[in-house]
Amino acid sequence: MQFHLNGFRPGDPTIASAEAALPPRAPDRPLPAEVDVLIVGAGPTGLTLAAQLARIGGVTVCVAEQKDGPLLVGQADGIACRTMEMFGAFGFADDIAREAYHVNETVFWKPDPDAPGRIRRSGRIQDVEDGLSEHPHVILNQARVHDRFLQVMQRSASTLAPDYGRRLVDLRLPVGDEPAVARFERVGDESAAGATETVRARYVVGCDGARSAVRGFMGRTLAGDAANQSWGVMDVLAVTDFPDIRFKAVVHSASAGNLLVIPREGGYLFRLYIELDELDADERVANRNITVDRLIDAARHILSPYTLDVKEVAWWSVYEIGQRLCDRYDDLEADDDVREPRVFIAGDACHTHSPKAGQGMNVSMRDGFNLGWKLAAVLRGRARPDVLRTYSAERHAVAKRLIDFDREFAAMFSANPRTEDDPDGVDPAEFQRYFQQHGRFTAGTETRYAPSLLVGDGTFQHLAKGFEIGTRFHSAPVRRVADALAMHLGHVVEADGRWRLFVFADEAAPDAPGSALATLCERLTTDARSPLVRSTRDGEDIDAVVDVRAIVQQRHDEVTIPEMPPLLRPAKGRYGLLDHEKVFCPDPRTGGDVFDLRGIDRTTGAMVVVRPDQHVAHVLPLDGFDALADFFAGFLLPVR
Ligand code: FAD
Repeated sequence: MQFHLNGFRPGDPTIASAEAALPPRAPDRPLPAEVDVLIVGAGPTGLTLAAQLARIGGVTVCVAEQKDGPLLVGQADGIACRTMEMFGAFGFADDIAREAYHVNETVFWKPDPDAPGRIRRSGRIQDVEDGLSEHPHVILNQARVHDRFLQVMQRSASTLAPDYGRRLVDLRLPVGDEPAVARFERVGDESAAGATETVRARYVVGCDGARSAVRGFMGRTLAGDAANQSWGVMDVLAVTDFPDIRFKAVVHSASAGNLLVIPREGGYLFRLYIELDELDADERVANRNITVDRLIDAARHILSPYTLDVKEVAWWSVYEIGQRLCDRYDDLEADDDVREPRVFIAGDACHTHSPKAGQGMNVSMRDGFNLGWKLAAVLRGRARPDVLRTYSAERHAVAKRLIDFDREFAAMFSANPRTEDDPDGVDPAEFQRYFQQHGRFTAGTETRYAPSLLVGDGTFQHLAKGFEIGTRFHSAPVRRVADALAMHLGHVVEADGRWRLFVFADEAAPDAPGSALATLCERLTTDARSPLVRSTRDGEDIDAVVDVRAIVQQRHDEVTIPEMPPLLRPAKGRYGLLDHEKVFCPDPRTGGDVFDLRGIDRTTGAMVVVRPDQHVAHVLPLDGFDALADFFAGFLLPVR
């Protein structure tokens, strides 16, 4: 993390300004009359989006939430490796990791063939394959994730905070250049009962959950299963002799049902998910009057012969969920290639599925992460509005795959174990194999965005095989040249809306006359077609839009910063201080040489372009300046 660029400032450097250190704004302030972005819903999706907009800055935002305050308990708890990578970009992955339960292994239990009324362990697998991510798969209460995003928002220069107690009751979609008009009613505060407020917004994002009102005002619906599966879930403190209570455990009993054990943060708490009945199309599980005692009773039967003595129930819920998907996430029709999208939905508002693979919160937050930087880039006049079209296309494809996966996974989870009496059941070993085979998918690292104006083609993929175009930038260990710090290269990608250009140098010394690295840096600095020259405004630092970093092949003690091209030691800020943190080299001592680990062609080197949401946008050769310029000219606006 870099700070003090524009002068020394004492205190916490994660707080953007003196104003951001003040307490949050008064909770009963009126909603703003007009904003750039109106976010409806302060669940994980809305907060990811809001935190990103706040981090990037320069955009006015209102987050309106019908609840009367922040979430305290309950809902989702699984945090996949890819989501932790995203948290890293916001600067709080380490805090989450410190507090969370780490999922190291998953165990499987099935009916004991010698005593069918009992269960026994049938398998144990490593949860995340080696090298998949530098971040772990963890479990933590959703509310604590909210807290971190709220902190990022509060510490930003805009001191953004949600406006609670506001329910969206009407939304007039934008017409032409006119803003959208949203009407909210005050809820939860009797002194304001019946009061309404109106917000006019250039863009509206419905992060308002599975029963999204925004989706309804857009005239869109979730399509899919007619029936819902009902679930019981409880977070408990209990005494049990079940030996794997501190492992994530999938338990199939012979006839008492199935459950999932999810150990939780803090060493004592654990969550049990118990699958209940399938509901009729319009039926709500709340009407079945299921009690927590019934859930405890069901868990005891499934875990037999082990005992379960529940001392305290921290949170419990029964809820219903079907596999459903909205066909578009914006307000455009499929054949509309003229208008720009102005209203969006994200998260559970677009897709719902079972909680078995722990994907809901993860995929939802990553919807928000995909949209946030695009909205900021358009509103700040940096990118063409066309980039907003890629949001629905990219994220719909992800959810479609998730729902197909979940349908298969959920069916296998729910099926009876295969026995002589029930040959149509699922072999637990087969379920375990399926679980393992889809490990990358559930870790979130398999997402691949298709070629578009933000994702290049694969012509030069062979130059950097391990940075697959469209997938997230798979970080690797490096050493920073300026101070020999062993670190992860991917950790320089922060959620600040900037693009990264990683230049993996050829074998030549960086200061050799005519080295490919030096030639490229020269053109990036001076050529009128360079995205840095074309899109960086007067008075801005040279890395304000595209942040160029180089990885040289020499050891860190064989090169020095002064011998680097000026672009890699730029003068920045009001004092013209030199940025010394742009150059890295391999660090074989801490996990391998990045050139080998990620299949970089050592003879030619390669450019790897990374989007603000950490996805690889392009791979090009070092002499591919023209292709690079064309790629950025496809969406970045020139400085007027
Ligand atoms: P949500 O988390 O649903 O957030 C939407 C927000 O919008 C809410 O805060 C809501 O109050 C607000 N809102 C809705 N309508 C309006 C309106 N008209 N005006 C203003 N605000 C509005 N997933 C799991 O994996 N495991 C679980 O155990 C689990 N349990 C859950 C229990 C419950 C009761 C719920 C609702 C969800 C649960 N989920 C669970 C799902 C998981 O929490 C979601 O996948 C995830 O939260 C999606 O995030 P989201 O922000 O898109 O939607």
